[in-house]
Amino acid sequence: MQLHNAEAEIFVPDGRPLEQALARTTDLGVCAHQDDLEILSYPGILRCFGQVSDWFGGVCVTNGAGSPRDGLYAAYTDEEMRQVRRVEQKKASVVGEYSIMALLDYPSSAVKDPQNPNIISDLKAVVEACRPRTVWTHNLADKHDTHVGTALRVIQALREVDEAVRPEKVYGLEVWRDLDWMVDSDKQAFDVAPHQNIAAALLGVFDSQIAGGKRYDLATMGRRSAHATYHASHGTDDTTQLCFGMDLTPLINDPDLDVKEYVVGFIQRLADEVTDRIGKFL
Ligand SMILES: [Zn+2]
Repeated sequence: MQLHNAEAEIFVPDGRPLEQALARTTDLGVCAHQDDLEILSYPGILRCFGQVSDWFGGVCVTNGAGSPRDGLYAAYTDEEMRQVRRVEQKKASVVGEYSIMALLDYPSSAVKDPQNPNIISDLKAVVEACRPRTVWTHNLADKHDTHVGTALRVIQALREVDEAVRPEKVYGLEVWRDLDWMVDSDKQAFDVAPHQNIAAALLGVFDSQIAGGKRYDLATMGRRSAHATYHASHGTDDTTQLCFGMDLTPLINDPDLDVKEYVVGFIQRLADEVTDRIGKFL
């Protein structure tokens, strides 16, 4: 497969030939930064973990050069950070038994440029080779620009590929803004209670991000616990760990659907629900 950037790479954790590794992928996660996959697309990773016929493939779009750094990594140059983050992402792909780990090596600025055709072209090439049934990416109400840029590029790529290779489902999940605010009927809830040791290991390998004092490992597991308890106000908990997703599939199936209007629809339904509840008791 020809990717645009000279140092882009597709790593195959178990050493299978690349074409076989791509073709076995059933769930494809596409994220902006190294460690986003392990936070947002953990339902896909877990669904495939230890399975014979289900495989999770990862795509990380940016190169990690602009990552924050502290502690052990405080004096690292951008190039050194790029290498550290690449190694960390590969470690996670081994722990999570991914089918492939594609590192596309773009600067963040490229992801936020709607006119950049190269990312779309790379994403289409990966999707066409994998033909995943499910795609996991950032939600469109995330508050990080590069995350939203990535999700928009994913949607654009999936709209442009042949209908025959389009996934059945596309979900946008949580990193920089959780989805607890959505009305319950809009929430796609994924039970991720099994193998919490694997979840912890996947989050823990990203030492360069955690070392500076950002405990993404604890915060992510804590968010999943909170979702499990606060999802339903009546009755006891059915699980101990939940992730929430926003269904993005309609945007892929109908290329004319306006992305902004679609996302504002989720916010409007929240506004309506809050207004109605207060109205009942005033
Ligand atoms: Zn990120």
